[in-house]
Amino acid sequence: MGSNSNTIDFLKKDLPVEQGSLVLSQDVKTGLVLVDVVNGFCTVGAGNLAPVQPNKQISDMVEESARLARLFCDKNWPVFAFLDTHHPDIPEPPYPPHCIAGTDEAKLVPELKWLENEPNATLRCKDCIDGFLGSIDKDGSNMFVDWIKNNQIKAILVVGICTDICVLDFVCSTLSARNRRFLTPLEDVIVYSRACATYDLPVHVAKNIDGALAHPQDLMHHIGLYMAKGRGARIVSEVSFADI
Ligand SMILES: [Zn+2]
Repeated sequence: MGSNSNTIDFLKKDLPVEQGSLVLSQDVKTGLVLVDVVNGFCTVGAGNLAPVQPNKQISDMVEESARLARLFCDKNWPVFAFLDTHHPDIPEPPYPPHCIAGTDEAKLVPELKWLENEPNATLRCKDCIDGFLGSIDKDGSNMFVDWIKNNQIKAILVVGICTDICVLDFVCSTLSARNRRFLTPLEDVIVYSRACATYDLPVHVAKNIDGALAHPQDLMHHIGLYMAKGRGARIVSEVSFADI
C-alpha cells in the first residue's frame, strides 16, 4: 500500500491532470452519458468483474452518477446509458464471462434502475468495450450519433466505469468522430472524474492469478483521465448547475 501511494504521488507529478469545474446551464445543451453503471461492474459479488468487497471509488461513482442522472431528468436534459451486455456464446477476450444478457449483471445498479422507465433516457446495450462502436446497428446507423443530432447536443458529460477502459475508449472514438464532423453540433467531451471509477487488481493479488494483468485502481483511474485529456477531453472534478 505504501509503495503504491508513493508511485501515485510520483505519477501525478510527472503526469499531472489539471481538473476544472463545470457549471451547467441552459445556454449549452448538455447530455449525460453513463458508461456501464451495471451490477456486473459495480455491485459487490455480482459476477466475475464485479468488486469482491465494498469499494469506495466505485460506490462514490455510482452515487454521483445517480445524483446527476436524477438532476438531468428533472430538467428534461438528455441522458444516454450504455449497458454492457453479452450473448452467452460470444466471449469478450481478454475478459472472463460477464454481463450476460438477461442476467442481473447486465442491468443498471439499483440506484439507477428507475432509468429503465424514464422517457428522458436512452438505453443502449453494447457487446464491446467501446460504446461508440457498440452503438452501430446492422443497417449502419449509430444510436449514439442519432441521440446527439436529434437532441442537438453541444457537450456531453461522461461518467461511469472503467475510467481507463470503457470510458476512455468511448471518449477517444467520440473525439475522433467529432473531429471528422460526424457528431455536429457536438463540441465538448467532458469527463467527470469523481463520477468515474475503475476496478482494483493490485500487483500482489494479480501475480497469484495465472495470466492476470495487474490493475491498481488509483493509478489506472489517474492514467485513464490523463489519456482522455491527452486526446482532447476536458476533465472536471466538480459539476454544478447555474440555477440551483
Ligand atoms: Zn463486456
